[in-house]
Amino acid sequence: MRYGIFSDVHANLDAFESVIDAMEKENIDEYLCLGDTVGYGAQPSECIAKVRNLNATALCGNHDLAAIERLNIEFFNFYARRASYWTRDNLTNSDITYLESLNFVEHYDNFAIVHSTIYCPEEFNYILTLEDAEINFSVLDKPICFMAHSHVPVSFFDTDPITYNTEPEIKLEPGQKYLINVGSVGQPRDGDPRSAYAVYDTEQQRVWIRRVEYDIESAMNKILDADLPDILAHRLKEGK
Ligand code: ZN
Repeated sequence: MRYGIFSDVHANLDAFESVIDAMEKENIDEYLCLGDTVGYGAQPSECIAKVRNLNATALCGNHDLAAIERLNIEFFNFYARRASYWTRDNLTNSDITYLESLNFVEHYDNFAIVHSTIYCPEEFNYILTLEDAEINFSVLDKPICFMAHSHVPVSFFDTDPITYNTEPEIKLEPGQKYLINVGSVGQPRDGDPRSAYAVYDTEQQRVWIRRVEYDIESAMNKILDADLPDILAHRLKEGK
């Protein structure tokens, strides 16, 4: 079984189409979307349609919740808040019903998927430090948890002490637990502007973090033309 796992599309259709093209060459059996399909970018409705079209099992991220008015966005920064109001105005009723149907966590035989943390998924905290990883390992009852939210691909290992790395290939060892951040399709923040996604092959017991180029100028122009905050366009080029 091969899973194509992606997250944080953030209404960036140009990026998402490149990732879909790349995933279609990977013999993927099932697609998993870890949330934040909307927010920031200029094509939220088109991106939701693509997720549905892939028949992906999708989760609800904080920006998805904000767009359907189920999250208090008082703590969002100014740009995220403006983008959130813009997104609300640019979703169809069907998009809203779809986002409302999504869960925070899904469980599979030997892994779980979540947008933010397995410890408390509805609070949308980050897993950034070894301490964050430790709390999450303590409640993870599967070998692997795929997560996202920070837009930075990284893998944590429940070694003693806990370790992490940003290698593009993870060889899964029996008895070991993993927290694997799959990065972001539509707004990478690790300094590499290319879209990120992951492939998990259950037979080979390997995970790969892939990066693909996309037409960044096109995505930027759509954000600028939509009258979304300029910074949301410019950050795409920087990958942060
Ligand atoms: Zn996000």
